[in-house]
Amino acid sequence: MDIENLNGLLRPKSVAVIGASATPGKIGHTVLLNLKESNYQGGIYPINPNEQEILGFKCYQSVLDVNEPIDAAIVTIPAKFVMDTVDQCGKKGIKGLIIITSGFSEVGQVELEKELVAKARGYGMRVLGPNIVGVLSNSDNFNGSFAPFLPFNGKGSLVSQSGALLIGIDAATYMRGIGFDKLISIGNMSDVDFADTIEWLDQDENTSCISLYIEGFKDGRRTIEVSRKAKKPIVALKSGVSAHGAAAAASHTGSLAGAAKIYKSAFTQAGIIQAEDLDNLFDRTLALSQQPPLKGENILILTNGGGVGVLGTDAAEKYGIPLKFAPEDVQAELKKHMPDFGSAKNPVDLTGMAGNDWYFETVNFSHGHKWVDGLVVLYCETAMTDPMGIAKAIKDGVDKSGKTDKPVTVSFVGGERSEKAMHWLVENGIPAFAAPDKALNAMAALREYQLIRETANNEPFVYDKADRNKALEIITKARQDNRTSLTEIEAKEVFKAYGLPVTQIRLSTSEEEAVNFAKEIGYPIVMKIVSPDILHKSDAGGVKVNIKDEQGVRDAYKEIMKNAKAYKADANIHGIVIQEMAPWGTEVILGSVNDPTFGPTVMFGLGGIFVEVLKDVTFKVAPFSKHQALGMMSEIKAAPILSGVRGEKPRDREVLAETICLYANMIMDLKDEISESDANPVLVYEEGKGLKVADARIILKKKQ
Ligand code: ADP
Ligand code: MG
Repeated sequence: MDIENLNGLLRPKSVAVIGASATPGKIGHTVLLNLKESNYQGGIYPINPNEQEILGFKCYQSVLDVNEPIDAAIVTIPAKFVMDTVDQCGKKGIKGLIIITSGFSEVGQVELEKELVAKARGYGMRVLGPNIVGVLSNSDNFNGSFAPFLPFNGKGSLVSQSGALLIGIDAATYMRGIGFDKLISIGNMSDVDFADTIEWLDQDENTSCISLYIEGFKDGRRTIEVSRKAKKPIVALKSGVSAHGAAAAASHTGSLAGAAKIYKSAFTQAGIIQAEDLDNLFDRTLALSQQPPLKGENILILTNGGGVGVLGTDAAEKYGIPLKFAPEDVQAELKKHMPDFGSAKNPVDLTGMAGNDWYFETVNFSHGHKWVDGLVVLYCETAMTDPMGIAKAIKDGVDKSGKTDKPVTVSFVGGERSEKAMHWLVENGIPAFAAPDKALNAMAALREYQLIRETANNEPFVYDKADRNKALEIITKARQDNRTSLTEIEAKEVFKAYGLPVTQIRLSTSEEEAVNFAKEIGYPIVMKIVSPDILHKSDAGGVKVNIKDEQGVRDAYKEIMKNAKAYKADANIHGIVIQEMAPWGTEVILGSVNDPTFGPTVMFGLGGIFVEVLKDVTFKVAPFSKHQALGMMSEIKAAPILSGVRGEKPRDREVLAETICLYANMIMDLKDEISESDANPVLVYEEGKGLKVADARIILKKKQ
């Protein structure tokens, strides 16, 4: 990454405002005013050929008239004039363009935007936008935007695809007392995108948590890669579900894909923590920007009220960090700081009698104790206590414990005094929220971050024994027949070339041949129609299972042919396959799509009716590690079926994970050929007994 040029854009030492205006209310005026009012210390050069001076700054005809170096140009002139400016900026040696102007790809001017980027890149400049609010940075006193003021100061940095939302969030930071260092508007992402800003913020000394508002990635694959390597927590809110993933498709996978699900899975893979809504994005950013990850599973809740304690307990379970009772010695110590009717279990109920001292003592002791991995302190405003006093007691307790690698979150329920106390806590580095649920959700985010850090750096699985030529030969043959779908037997040969365990299979074109092949393979066998015109074979009466003898083969042959012709009179029939009958096993589905944003992506779920009805599936962008493939199995709701329920032995998850990896490897390697594929069903046996791919389908990419 060219950090240097992005520095010029995001932490410029000097800026030109192209289209600076003397008329209040115009964006070109607002930006200049904001630079001034934010007390920006770098050089400020308004560009406007018709003015001498605006807001006390000397005006220039063009950036070329400025003698000093300029890092960034903030462009506010109408779209049609932008091109000329790019040349001047390029000649001036400007590092980046912050293009606020709209009227580009968002209104269909795709070519104009492409030309603009090509020209800027030709000069080595980076482009932020167009169609943005600008860049705001507290640590640089830099409000290079038309948003009215810098955000409430903090350590999160937000990248937003929506400009209006960014302005709203800017204002909301004060209301909520949740701070940000930078707000970066990326608009059309013509050049600088999420991946670039994540990479840059990861090395920015003033950012401790990267927060994203996403409508869609430009390059999903690179964004995953960059995020996976980031050393700081990343939390994202994704809105909108685009239609492309659900486009009418010939396979199950296509219709099940849906962009939202793929994004969700991609976030997990990238180590990006997800936010449920805007509120949650704030809360999680606050926690992740102020607190260390939660390294273990023991959280302790301290409270002065039973009600909030129970709410906290429920939330802990809901967010996957259920409470455990603290050991006896911990309970005994806590008992010293509560009345007899208090409870030292978990939640620890100090009762309504708890004042500053008890809060201090219990916080101090629990935060310092080795059993406690994370502390959640709850408080209900009472007549006898002062919220600010409690807040200070909590802060003191935490500080005096001497521990800095253990997270604390707080919730106060009350009125204005509680509100003030919580602001004070946040300003002093302790995230505080208006509801117990939020304090627990924040703690859960810190746990998610820890778990993500433990797995994000697994290297992808690689299979080096694939017979690529064999696969391409089969594909080429189908293309010569003008087909974009492979028959089951062809698809299985491709699968086999990539190491996938498929059933033995032979193509017969006469009843006699069928009988011979059945004998060779050995009974029982399965027979299926082979026709590029029949994708769903059972629907056409084209599948007969458990055929036990020669007479069965002859009967089935006639019947399948009859059914196929009845189903589609002019179907091109290649023959009937004879295949080994795989023993019964748990049916799972593997599928793939070539997603427009993420590229080759694997889907996994339980097969049969489950996949049709429950859509209980998960996705992963290929390639990935075996560990991540195992993770897919626990991501589906039906996970217990694979791990063994009601006396059933667990399924062979090891072999299944390897198979998922082999499959991922195949769709990656053939990504220029395969548009979609699936293996449905794959029959999975108990531990140690492996699996068999019973049916396979491959849809080819259309080639011009
Ligand atoms: P379709 O085109 O309808 O998906 P399949 O090949 O998946 O056809 O066959 C339908 C069903 O028959 C499968 O879901 C599976 O239960 C069973 N089946 C197919 N092939 C085999 C096989 N080789 N061994 C055991 N069962 C099979
Ligand atoms: Mg099938």
